[in-house]
Amino acid sequence: MYKISLEWFDSVRSHTRTISAEDKTKENGLITIGRDENLCDIIFPINETTVSRSHAAIFYDGKQKKLFVKNLTRNKTTPNPVIVDAKSVILEAAPLKIGSIIKLGKFSINVIQIEFTAAGDEQVYGVRCINGHLLPYDHIGDFCPYCGVSLQASETVLMPRA
Ligand SMILES: [Zn+2]
Repeated sequence: MYKISLEWFDSVRSHTRTISAEDKTKENGLITIGRDENLCDIIFPINETTVSRSHAAIFYDGKQKKLFVKNLTRNKTTPNPVIVDAKSVILEAAPLKIGSIIKLGKFSINVIQIEFTAAGDEQVYGVRCINGHLLPYDHIGDFCPYCGVSLQASETVLMPRA
């Protein structure tokens, strides 16, 4: 299980939010960040166009036992940058640690706390393509490596235990 606390300022006020593995998010196993309140858990004002509607997502990698952030605009013609600890994140997800700073457009999100508890590794989410191929979560937004279909709108599933 993980628990992550984030802090950010949206140009009107500051926010602090703690999200744990048990919390229901818009998409199972993902903490989505962007301007679209229907898609995102961490929501920036709709008029703040330096942030994409669905811009980045935090997920737990049960194998590496770490939290990562990935860029959800990576497959666009012009990906909207995500900067984590001063490094640009486009194709590869970046690990998060306490003190990490995630920059989206003109905003910064500070990772103020991360905790892991031992119970955590039973639930590992993955994605399933429309043809039934089961893939690790970090494939979301990509194309299925087996059949090539887009995984953009694919189903989130609990991975079978290894
Ligand atoms: Zn497939």
